[in-house]
Amino acid sequence: MKDLIVLKLGGSLITEKDKDTPTINYPNLKRLAKEVGDAYKEGNFSLVFVHGVGSFGHVIVKKTGINNGITKESQLMDFAETQRLQNELNVKVCKEFLKNNVPIIPVQASATAIMDAKKFEGMDTGAIKGMLELGLVPTLFGVPAYDRIQGCSILSGDDICTYLSKEFHAKRLIHATDVGGVFDSNPKENSDAKLIPEITRENFKEVLEKTGGSSNTDVTGGMKNKIKNLLELKGTKSEIINGNEPGYVKRALLGESGLGTQIN
Ligand code: ADP
Repeated sequence: MKDLIVLKLGGSLITEKDKDTPTINYPNLKRLAKEVGDAYKEGNFSLVFVHGVGSFGHVIVKKTGINNGITKESQLMDFAETQRLQNELNVKVCKEFLKNNVPIIPVQASATAIMDAKKFEGMDTGAIKGMLELGLVPTLFGVPAYDRIQGCSILSGDDICTYLSKEFHAKRLIHATDVGGVFDSNPKENSDAKLIPEITRENFKEVLEKTGGSSNTDVTGGMKNKIKNLLELKGTKSEIINGNEPGYVKRALLGESGLGTQIN
């Protein structure tokens, strides 16, 4: 296998995350699918692609409470409907990537993932490995998943990225989101917020104190959870960049670093 990059496009980029009905951000999705397609053609890397679900997931999950478990029968339908919505988004995302010659193959993580009281225990990765070796681009997305303690919990795209990066010893993990990286306060709420170019063992505690969740409805922990996840990784270089900046995702995939916040 060539060097592996795990790329995540956040739900804040490919959907209109602040909407209370599922809405795709088509201008962004189309531009980003082209950037990934161009980079995949020009570069020489294997790619696992993960996307967030934004307004296709967080709204229904918050409304139905399935992230806190199944406590009444009607939530079985909520679990099923939530999964269907994620698949609907994924089909539309895949269509745009196929138009740009990315050999994208959807992998519904909840088909084999097991959660334990909201903690992701693991999933089957044998087929994903084989697909990567063939040159396909396995694509995963946040899902409601079976939880052995509470019936259901949410397996976020962010958690999938960390898990697969460890499993396959990814060279790089790139998180593209709707802000320029990690700031010393939420840049959506404070226009004076300053970018933190690098998070290390020395400054991470201080950074986590200044970081919040998402500005939008988000049941998976927003920026704070991303940083905690990335700090766990050893041997994978990770970076949080702004996918709203045209060209950044392509440049990052082709090897450029320093476009946002690096986590070491
Ligand atoms: P995505 O949907 O792209 O995965 P999230 O909504 O989970 O993104 O996380 C990105 C959001 O994190 C930003 O839009 C911002 O509102 C929020 N955030 C909170 N604290 C910070 C911070 N210190 N620096 C940057 N972003 C922050």
